[in-house]
Amino acid sequence: MEANWAGNLTYGAQRIVHPADRAQLVEALAGAGEVRVVGSRHSFNDITDTTGTLIATDRLPAGVEVDAAAGVVRVGGGVRYGDLAALLDGHGLALPNLASLPHISVAGAIATGTHGSGDRLGSLATSVRALTLLTPGGDEVRYARGDEDFPGAVVHLGALGVVVEVELEVEPAYDVAQTVHERLGWDTAVEHLDALTASATSVSLFTDWSAAGQVAQIWTKHRADAGAPAAADLLPALGATLADGPRHPVPGGDARASTEQGGVAGNWAQRLPHFRLEFTPSSGRELQSEYFVPRADAPAAIEAFRSLGDRISPLLQISEVRTVRADDLWLSPARGQDTVAFHFTWLPDQPAVGALLPQIEGALPPSVRPHWGKLWRMDPAFVTSRFPDWDRFARLRAQLDPERRFVNGFLRRLGL
Ligand SMILES: Cc1cc2nc3c(=O)[nH]c(=O)nc-3n(C[C@H](O)[C@H](O)[C@H](O)COP(=O)(O)OP(=O)(O)OC[C@H]3O[C@@H](n4cnc5c(N)ncnc54)[C@H](O)[C@@H]3O)c2cc1C
Repeated sequence: MEANWAGNLTYGAQRIVHPADRAQLVEALAGAGEVRVVGSRHSFNDITDTTGTLIATDRLPAGVEVDAAAGVVRVGGGVRYGDLAALLDGHGLALPNLASLPHISVAGAIATGTHGSGDRLGSLATSVRALTLLTPGGDEVRYARGDEDFPGAVVHLGALGVVVEVELEVEPAYDVAQTVHERLGWDTAVEHLDALTASATSVSLFTDWSAAGQVAQIWTKHRADAGAPAAADLLPALGATLADGPRHPVPGGDARASTEQGGVAGNWAQRLPHFRLEFTPSSGRELQSEYFVPRADAPAAIEAFRSLGDRISPLLQISEVRTVRADDLWLSPARGQDTVAFHFTWLPDQPAVGALLPQIEGALPPSVRPHWGKLWRMDPAFVTSRFPDWDRFARLRAQLDPERRFVNGFLRRLGL
């Protein structure tokens, strides 16, 4: 059987099918027993897997329809953000935010609450105005903003059926300038964390949590229409230095894979992600985890990671700290709270990483939530207790899939 992008999970599905149009999709869904949909395969755990049939979206029509007057683009769920961005750009339009990579599919990204960074930027799911599902029973259901169950259907964990169309909010295209600074002491970073993350449209802090104790790189992405970024003065004032050339966030990584830096303003889609579409994102041989805490708990989380630095850094390629604006989506890791996200790109050593995760999780504030698509070991009952609307989601799932065909091992562990 085939594997996910990282190669750390061989799908347990009996078959993988690639419908090329709606009729083939309907037929594949009707003929399957246990079934799940697979997007661009960038999740690291078994959230996508099934013992039955995996329906891939890669050959389905992109179905992109721009409605500039309504400020909306309609896309097939399998469309990759990088392809959509290029198309939108041709219409002079843009999305408000992107993740660190443009390679992921729209439906797959919103399913897990995938996010970029920015105090005032919500996760990618917050751009969804409506989405249309093909339910396991073959009915078409559309949820639009304002509908009672809409906030439950957007971060969907792949549990509600096949997302066949997503309507995303768009805005006039804008320019972004990306700048990298280096070497900021952690004590200073924690003392000025609010000012730091507010100092540009999007801010990422990269660190290895080692005893040397510094933020190795600070990436700021700033909209040209938002005036000069405060980061330009703040970062040097705090002791960080401007990078003297392009950087890759992973030490030793090839900076040609990174999007343009050096403060040169230009196309939003070529600067909001860290990595270019035509290159392998990140390091390519890796595992990932990510933990979210409300802003007020960020200093405690940083303290926990620093205290475990001697165990974390030998297994780590790089760690990234980002911010996500609060939203109202039931299963969003930023549900109800402005959030700080702590991401880990691990070496591809699953047993060692798996043994370390409980130590990290045990040291984190009890407000923690995990990234649905990455590796975590927390007690599933604890995780579901962290989402106040979990029971409503469980009811929505049961209503749309009473025969439980989309319930896989991942959902079963969560009690669904
Ligand atoms: C190198 C790398 C960098 C990353 N960077 C970030 C980042 O910056 N921010 C972040 O938050 N995450 C990041 N991730 C994680 C990634 O964004 C998520 O795992 C995301 O869900 C992957 O999307 P995908 O299209 O690959 O979905 P898949 O992994 O294929 O699927 C994810 C889920 O969506 C469901 N699904 C997919 N398509 C459909 C559909 N059409 N209908 C119904 N269900 C569907 C699947 O069943 C599954 O439950 C990164 C991952 C990698 C490998």
